[in-house]
Amino acid sequence: SARMAKSKFEYVRNFEIDDTCLRNCYIVVRLDGRNFHKFAEDHNFLKPNDDRALALMVRSATSVLEELEDINIAYGQSDEFSFIFKRSSTWFRRRASKLMTHVASQFSSSYVFYWGEFFSDQPLLHPPSFDGRVVLYPSNRNLRDYLSWRQADCHINNLYNTAFWALVQRGGCTTAQAEERLKGTVAADKNELLFSEFNINYNNEPSAYRKGTTLLWGRTDEASTKKIKPSNGDERQVLVTRSRRQVTTHHCDIIGDQFWDEHPDILEP
Ligand code: ATP
Ligand code: ATP
Ligand code: MG
Ligand code: MG
Ligand code: MG
Ligand code: MG
Repeated sequence: SARMAKSKFEYVRNFEIDDTCLRNCYIVVRLDGRNFHKFAEDHNFLKPNDDRALALMVRSATSVLEELEDINIAYGQSDEFSFIFKRSSTWFRRRASKLMTHVASQFSSSYVFYWGEFFSDQPLLHPPSFDGRVVLYPSNRNLRDYLSWRQADCHINNLYNTAFWALVQRGGCTTAQAEERLKGTVAADKNELLFSEFNINYNNEPSAYRKGTTLLWGRTDEASTKKIKPSNGDERQVLVTRSRRQVTTHHCDIIGDQFWDEHPDILEP
């Protein structure tokens, strides 16, 4: 309040440190679910990929894009999501703690708010939380490599988990035996194991599992009717179409050039 601002206590504000993000850099905020191995168990997530949980993550991330400013692209997999603020953003004067905490709390509250839409038969047993970190990337190559790193991580983990749970759920292995079987195997070995023992062609697994989810801004035309009343005429209905900004979801490769060629507006000069 105005009175507080003039008090002798005011000096304590000087203890706050400046955490302004360097100009011209992309600001990445990555969230990760706290202790989600346990959270998934407690809430009976299906293994290796629970579609409800993935969809709830995407719904919560969509709410972050819609409610906060200047996020051009987001990428998520498992219990994590990365949000990329455009280089030129001046939102909250680029203060790292403001950006990170707004992303984390908007995401967490949305996760709880929308829980019932996705888990209709599974009560939420305790409040989940997400950690956040801020990383700055000065070049387009660095940002692309960051996103490639997360998508490669998605691929490596999902291939492992698909093989692991095939061995457990369909191969009669204990979790310890499945772990032992996969020790020291490379990607080609896991592909071969899935195909020869379980008739699973890994490339035919859903792209949401293999590639994760990328969120972008798109446009859709919305038709609606509007009542107009000319000053010297009768009221009538007219059809109007409006172009609306909308979050779109993609489960495609973001490592190669094709995605970036098709979406030239994400990276800034
Ligand atoms: P910012 O996003 O910058 O924080 P703000 O609208 O949240 O904007 P604050 O200075 O944090 O601004 O003020 C919080 C406001 O919330 C108060 O001014 C008051 O209007 C409202 N508010 C908070 N708690 C209560 C409460 N218990 N009863 C009535 N009003 C409240
Ligand atoms: P930390 O608090 O250190 O992040 P964590 O238990 O969350 O610990 P992570 O490495 O983040 O560890 O792993 C997240 C775990 O959440 C996965 O290993 C998996 O067990 C579970 N999980 C997340 N999303 C799903 C999903 N859609 N389907 C099934 N399991 C999931
Ligand atoms: Mg972790
Ligand atoms: Mg986690
Ligand atoms: Mg994780
Ligand atoms: Mg406030």
